[in-house]
Amino acid sequence: NGSLHEVDPDVAAAVDAELRRQQSTLEMIASENFAPVAALQAQGSVLTNKYAEGYPGRRYYGGCEHVDVIESLARDRVKELFGAEAANVQPHSGASANAAAMFALLQPGDTILGLDLAHGGHLTHGMRINFSGKLYNVVAYHVDAETGRVDMAEVERLAAEHRPKLIIAGWSAYPRQLDFAEFRRIADANGSLLMVDMAHFAGLVAAGLHPNPVPFADVVTTTTHKTLGGPRGGVILSRSEHAKKINSAVFPGQQGGPLEHVIAAKAVAFKIAATEEFRDRQRRTLEGAKLLAERLLAEDVTGAGVSVLSGGTDVHLVLVDLRNSELDGQQAEDRLHGIGITVNRNAVPNDPRPPMVTSGLRIGTPALATRGFGAEDFREVADVIAEALKPGFDTESLKARVAALADKHPLYPDLTV
Ligand code: PLP
Repeated sequence: NGSLHEVDPDVAAAVDAELRRQQSTLEMIASENFAPVAALQAQGSVLTNKYAEGYPGRRYYGGCEHVDVIESLARDRVKELFGAEAANVQPHSGASANAAAMFALLQPGDTILGLDLAHGGHLTHGMRINFSGKLYNVVAYHVDAETGRVDMAEVERLAAEHRPKLIIAGWSAYPRQLDFAEFRRIADANGSLLMVDMAHFAGLVAAGLHPNPVPFADVVTTTTHKTLGGPRGGVILSRSEHAKKINSAVFPGQQGGPLEHVIAAKAVAFKIAATEEFRDRQRRTLEGAKLLAERLLAEDVTGAGVSVLSGGTDVHLVLVDLRNSELDGQQAEDRLHGIGITVNRNAVPNDPRPPMVTSGLRIGTPALATRGFGAEDFREVADVIAEALKPGFDTESLKARVAALADKHPLYPDLTV
């Protein structure tokens, strides 16, 4: 019954080091966030010991009276948050949520229509060696080369031509809002079901700062750890008519015992997501992304060859376009890492550089907003990033500015491993 430090100093040291890394650097990976201490506590609780195959009130194990309370809270809260008729909070991740939703709605060999991975889609939307690409017949839509926005005329044309069983709207790297009503219209015109994967923007939806896909889609999947700011995990929301099939696709179709410790942390996150404080955080997230896009677009005037895909952002991330810059995605990622800012390189549509190098960066603001960053801080961050992407940048002074921002907004000040 010893502590982690006593039982396993090697693991403890690495966890300690990770805590210090998160505290001392600026996390700008668009899919990351900082879970609240309350969620960390729920996730680190004795719930990890409990088997609970089945659903609240209908379990295959005894002793589920307390986890039933927790899972019911999580389900009710997430339904309320997004106005959904039914919810399954058991998927272990976003990828498992998508796999289960597709397992429920499709037969192997059915046609799906999703956003191309290279244009911002997710692996589970039909990538060749993902389950989605192997099990289903994939047709992909794209973003328009000029506008950087999803080409809805192409979606309509492909849907009419292939009559997909399922259309997937959603993205991992796209800086704009999707037109859910138009996706619904196209789905209805072709007898398709519509699934929206809101993994990236669910927090914005919860805060009322992004259109809610739930009224338009048959099924909405999400992760709980991106803008939503909770533990790593997935959720499937649906119309009641699909609920039975979805529940059975998750368990026993795809998973065994649910992770009730994670579900408890999801319940905590859903409670927080309904607060005014959360709304304010999402507002700062959007403001930060806008300030960054504006700064980088202005920077192009100075001749650094840095631009922003689609000319701006409506969401929590900016896609930096380095096609006209001497810097490639890998060099830019490394340069920012060198001054204490963590981002990921990202292929831009029709990228001239190889996939391991790329000509883009994906930079997100959710984690810094969670840390308390406001407009003034984001202006400073944007300035530091713009300076770092220019030739002749000064590493030491930029490092110091990053450290000052990290010090100004302490992360997990009272947390010990
Ligand atoms: N869906 C989208 C749109 C995503 O961006 C991601 C994660 O990057 C996922 C699903 C998968 O989530 P997870 O990594 O939890 O499997």
